[in-house]
Amino acid sequence: MGYYFPPLHYTSGEIIIDGRNISGMDPDDVRKSILGREISYIPQAAMNALNPTRRIIHFIEDVMHAHEPSMSKKDILAMATERFQVLGLPPSVLQKYPVELSGGMKQRTVIAISVILSPKVLVADEPSSALDVTSQKMVIKMLRDLMDKGFIKSMIFITHELPLLYNVTDDIAVMYAGQIVEQGSAKEAVFTPLHPYSKGLMGSIIVPEEGLREAKLTAIPGVPPNLKKPPSGCRFAERCQYVTPECRAHSIDLRAISEGRAYRCILSEKQMQEAKSHG
Ligand code: SF4
Repeated sequence: MGYYFPPLHYTSGEIIIDGRNISGMDPDDVRKSILGREISYIPQAAMNALNPTRRIIHFIEDVMHAHEPSMSKKDILAMATERFQVLGLPPSVLQKYPVELSGGMKQRTVIAISVILSPKVLVADEPSSALDVTSQKMVIKMLRDLMDKGFIKSMIFITHELPLLYNVTDDIAVMYAGQIVEQGSAKEAVFTPLHPYSKGLMGSIIVPEEGLREAKLTAIPGVPPNLKKPPSGCRFAERCQYVTPECRAHSIDLRAISEGRAYRCILSEKQMQEAKSHG
């Protein structure tokens, strides 16, 4: 989000949104010109962040006053009412206190507030965890609606629930120990994972999709490395059943094998298939 205060500080890397690099920008400038319009964020357990002494409409007024100071309270209410209706939320919610809403409704309300300025990118960090399955489904449907109705242009959905991700996103990037180890279309990443970690991840969870739901569950041995001192070679080496001395000798680059498809491993696709059949 590019929004941080000391002792956090920017050291390196780039965050480019729509051609504009926001890395290292003054946090106040980010707040004024980037947050809300360019990029918005739903943090984990966002529903618990609402001040319980304020009505929902007051949170929306705060956002609008910061970005559209000339907008009257009447116009804000009219705009919020219309937006809630389009997203399938009862407008009566606007006059309620957070404590009067169920967990699922609170989470959907927070999402509606986060995208009130129609950002280009929404970063949703585990937006459906800690919800029951029915509420999860409604949150996912709402996020899809936001895209379909053009209220957000794109979304980065962060989760450890790969089967859920399959139903939300077009593309998946699998990260391990701070690095992308595989990327591809949602279908490729779920049905034909290439990196040993992605394979282990898919093998360790129940996937309801046909062709995968019968698979036997397996576990990935060991624990992730200490990121204060990551290993110089492959970061997955300690846990990988295919590890060779070469894997530990040097860092492994992410290599592209086709448009949008890449993985970070020394083994070729063919070698992995062979290793699997022998192992
Ligand atoms: S580079 Fe080696 S240790 Fe790392 S994932 Fe590939 S086979 Fe396993």
